[in-house]
Amino acid sequence: MPITGKRYLDYSSFIKSIFGERVQKISLDIGFSCPNRDGSKGFGGCTYCNNNTFNPDYCAPTKSITQQLEEGINRFSKKYKTQQYFAYFQAYTNTYSDLDSLKNMYEEALQVPGVIGLVIGTRPDCISEDIINYLSLLSKEYYISLEFGVESTLNKTLKAVNRCHSFEDTIAAYEMCKNKGFHLGAHVILGLPGESKEELLMHAVELSKLPISTLKLHHLQIVKQSVMAHQFKKEPEKFDLFTADNYIELVSEFIEILRPDIIIERFISETPPDLLIAPKWNGLKNFEIVAKIDKLLTKNNTWQGKYYKQQAVISK
Ligand code: SF4
Repeated sequence: MPITGKRYLDYSSFIKSIFGERVQKISLDIGFSCPNRDGSKGFGGCTYCNNNTFNPDYCAPTKSITQQLEEGINRFSKKYKTQQYFAYFQAYTNTYSDLDSLKNMYEEALQVPGVIGLVIGTRPDCISEDIINYLSLLSKEYYISLEFGVESTLNKTLKAVNRCHSFEDTIAAYEMCKNKGFHLGAHVILGLPGESKEELLMHAVELSKLPISTLKLHHLQIVKQSVMAHQFKKEPEKFDLFTADNYIELVSEFIEILRPDIIIERFISETPPDLLIAPKWNGLKNFEIVAKIDKLLTKNNTWQGKYYKQQAVISK
């Protein structure tokens, strides 16, 4: 069991162990598109996606990277004592450009006082040797984390939600990026249509085989202006959205199977209320869900990785 006081490895303890204090992420929107919207892989995007759900109000592609970061830092420095920040390239696909443009953007972010690293969200099919080598060099001086949207380990689901890449693409991307000096993260959505409970738990087994150090879990949310919003309106019976209690129970089982050295960064998504269609968990906030997960793990006397080996054997 982890020695952080939690029954799983939590991100804030991990960051404090490296930097001695909280490091605040400042979200950026640099106006990228993504290959799943502009036609190079697909049109219309992933069915659940509305990128507006990512962006705080200071974050707009009409502003420079420096301006977005300075405004974000100004806001968070009033809220928290921290003086250290990560530039979070979050909206859309943040490696989807030529290397020179990417270098300019990443290096502009790293010039902003207080910024000590980058967190870069992208798709598994949008990475190249050149970008990897560059990030590898940057990681000698800065904290660099590259996060891939895995979303599901099942190809039938990836196809159904129009991801336009396979799980084999995901495995290949992690293979290319492993042992290069930067951190690797994964983003997964639990509850995509058509996945049974057994299949959801198998994601933990498959994710445990990837060379990831951090994991973000998200429950499926139906958001306005997404393809899924129309599908949900037309055929709500095809969706089995979690209640808060059901999700908390699932997460508790999920992390029992998960590799014990994976740092869990998030358990839920938090879509702004004006964009959220369902499920509405009476406005429960992230910290309240985390407290309930902690309580359930304690009640059940269980922890991350408790059944990791057994599951790994079963999966072979
Ligand atoms: S989720 Fe990511 S890959 Fe999918 S449409 Fe949205 S930005 Fe593109």
